[in-house]
Amino acid sequence: MLRLSGITKTYPTPQGPLRVLDSVDLELAAGESLALMGESGSGKSTLLHLAAGLDLPDSGSVELDGQRLSALSEPARASLRRHRLGLVFQQFHLVPSLSVRDNLTLQARLAGRDDRAWTDHLLARLGLDGLDDRYPEQLSGGQQQRLAIGRALAPRPQLLLADEPTGNLDEAVADQVLALLQTLIDESGCALLVVTHSTRVAAPMGRRLRLARGRLLEPGR
Ligand code: ATP
Ligand code: MG
Repeated sequence: MLRLSGITKTYPTPQGPLRVLDSVDLELAAGESLALMGESGSGKSTLLHLAAGLDLPDSGSVELDGQRLSALSEPARASLRRHRLGLVFQQFHLVPSLSVRDNLTLQARLAGRDDRAWTDHLLARLGLDGLDDRYPEQLSGGQQQRLAIGRALAPRPQLLLADEPTGNLDEAVADQVLALLQTLIDESGCALLVVTHSTRVAAPMGRRLRLARGRLLEPGR
């Protein structure tokens, strides 16, 4: 499903080049779930952006379903993202001019997969039913976060890349969202790569890895 091979990423900074990822290898099979942990600034969001083809590595390759992302044009990468991936960013990137429901249906339509029953199901499972007609600015931070998750899931992606998806939620709601993600993985075979600081979120995932000094390590190392 997703394969990162020998990924290196360096950012230019006023203090000189900053190597954030150093020969990182990672493979995620269909339906597999993986928690990515690591200190703030360790490169977790960078890795997620590269996996989504939103940025390209300096060296190494990212393959999605056997397609090397760097060999595709930007429009082809965008199309692949719309059809195959669900993305939850640290900043939610909701469409402010669209209602809660329309944020979901827009994303599904972009993937050619509008399904009202599924949208209703997602809204209910995320505790957003009854808020259909609100706009993102009329939602609490936690509700916006849940909407961002719903939007990513609306097109029924094969791979969900989620950056701290429960960072703004209290434990009870975070547990509901986690249960939803778990059901989804079980029901639809959707693979999940989730960045989290929370051991609670990481615990039920199939695998856990930690990013430190540019390398991916097993936890505890
Ligand atoms: P957090 O847990 O705080 O979200 P993170 O693990 O997601 O952190 P990244 O956002 O991937 O970390 O950033 C990794 C490092 O790269 C940080 O030191 C950051 O300052 C730096 N960095 C990220 N983006 C850029 C950029 N566009 N230009 C220069 N440096 C950057
Ligand atoms: Mg980050």
